[in-house]
Amino acid sequence: MKDFARDFYRSKEWKKVSTAYMTSRFYLCERCGSPATICHHKIYLNAQNINDPEISLNPDRLECLCQDCHNKEHSLKRTITRFDDSGNIVGVKKSGDEKQFERDRDAFDEALKKMTAQNGSESIFRGRVI
Ligand SMILES: [Zn+2]
Ligand SMILES: [Zn+2]
Repeated sequence: MKDFARDFYRSKEWKKVSTAYMTSRFYLCERCGSPATICHHKIYLNAQNINDPEISLNPDRLECLCQDCHNKEHSLKRTITRFDDSGNIVGVKKSGDEKQFERDRDAFDEALKKMTAQNGSESIFRGRVI
């Protein structure tokens, strides 16, 4: 856990909000239906937005996830790879805000579609993305 988040995750407010949220979702993963253990912030918390209750304590911005889906969520965002128009890797995204990620993911999907059309398989995609 990052330093700036330690106090937040220990706070009464967070415990209350996260427990209420998880309860409202019956502690079931919103993505796969498995028992959920993690209350994930759809907007990743950072030192700035963690003090903004609209983001850090807003149920609309939370997601009830199992460990697996939570791992996938975070590893996807950390390792998403960008391609240029010819399908060459131009950078790997480490983290970022949700909107930027959506744009990246759209671009990523586009690039993948193109590559799949050109190569007739997803082999390049599998080989290059961690
Ligand atoms: Zn799940
Ligand atoms: Zn998370």
